[in-house]
This record gives sequence, C-alpha cells and structure tokens, in this order.
Amino acid sequence: MAFFCDLSEYHYSEDGFREGTVNIGWLAKGHDFEKDVPSEEILAALWEYTKIAVCITRGGHFCDLCGGNVLIAEERDGIRLLLGTAEIRVFSDDGTIFAAPNALYHYVKEHSYKLHGQFISAIVSQRVPGEDYFRKLDALDLAWSDAPHFSEAKPFRFRSQLE
Ligand SMILES: [Zn+2]
Repeated sequence: MAFFCDLSEYHYSEDGFREGTVNIGWLAKGHDFEKDVPSEEILAALWEYTKIAVCITRGGHFCDLCGGNVLIAEERDGIRLLLGTAEIRVFSDDGTIFAAPNALYHYVKEHSYKLHGQFISAIVSQRVPGEDYFRKLDALDLAWSDAPHFSEAKPFRFRSQLE
C-alpha cells in the first residue's frame, strides 16, 4: 500500500479527495512509526468506523508489515471484515477530515501503530458513527457502503496476483 506521513494532505484517490482531508495510517515496510498498545476503547471505536467503507479499491491489498500474501481479515463482535479493500473517513470537530486505509484497525491491533491524538479524540468523542456522520459523508458527496465481509472475499483480485 502507498506510504504517506500522518497529517500530510490526502491525494491518494481523486474520488476521495475533499478540501481539508489529511492522511492517517498509510504505513509501509521500511517506514518507522510510533507504537503504543491500543486500549479496548480505541479498538472498539475504530471498528465502528472500519465497518463503513469509502473509496473501495478494485483490487485488495495485503499487509506490507505482515509480509507475504496474507489477506487482512479482522473479526470483532462476530463480524469478520476483509481489510485492505477500502478507506475510512473520520471527522474532527475542527473540520479536519481524516482519510485512512481500512487496514488501519489491523495496523493498530496487530502492529501497535500509535494513532495520532487528534484522530483518537475524533473517534472516541463519537464512538459510533451516527446520523451526523452520514450527513457529513452525504454533504461531501462521498459514496460509502458496508465494508466487505471476509466471506465475500472471492470477487476481489489481489494486486500481487495481477502483477
Ligand atoms: Zn499486518
């Protein structure tokens, strides 16, 4: 997956670009990042945002940090999601829009990637994306859908299989 510094201006997907969008959690092998053990509160909140996919990719991505051709699947509350397949959006009170790969949950949980404080505040202050969240997506004309479940993995072709 592409690497971008946290809080740098987002440009990865033209469809997903809106004024004020910054990158969070675009990690790649060879780029160090700060680590921290995530709290349950953070994981629970991040999972809620992970369920809502924007900018679904045509092919999926493997985890660069795990190495190898291993699908990124994470399970919580009986739901198993296929990650590396889309992006997520989180809105900060100051108007900042955070854009992250939906593998973010995996990065935090499995690789102890330390989320930026501003991002944590945004997800913890609104632990479950509510009406206001979807209103913002609509206002920005950002199409969204439910994140792909792992059992629906078959339609996805993976980058490395195409190369
Ligand atoms: Zn990984």
